[in-house]
Amino acid sequence: MADEPDIFCSVCKKLIDGQYVVSGGIAMHRGCVKATTCPVCKKPIHGPAQVVFDDELHPECFRCADCKKDLTNQAFAKDGNAILCADCGAARLKKTNPKANITIKK
Ligand SMILES: [Zn+2]
Ligand SMILES: [Zn+2]
Ligand SMILES: [Zn+2]
Repeated sequence: MADEPDIFCSVCKKLIDGQYVVSGGIAMHRGCVKATTCPVCKKPIHGPAQVVFDDELHPECFRCADCKKDLTNQAFAKDGNAILCADCGAARLKKTNPKANITIKK
């Protein structure tokens, strides 16, 4: 209808002009419902995801937050929301935050 306000998808931020779903007061395209948001770049994941503990990330976002090393098939650590290589994880643990809850996974 002409007097309906434009609705934008909360996932892809594009105008919704067809069917959509409202979940928790948030509107999104039907096709965007299943999209998981990558915690690293905050963008929806539409392709295959890299699962890191309970999070799903873009494979290209699966890299060390400090040295940017690609972590595919590497041991990695997690410090809060930051994903780190084992070296940077250990360095953070020692230096900046002795109480950090860092988990290193092979
Ligand atoms: Zn969308
Ligand atoms: Zn990402
Ligand atoms: Zn690193």
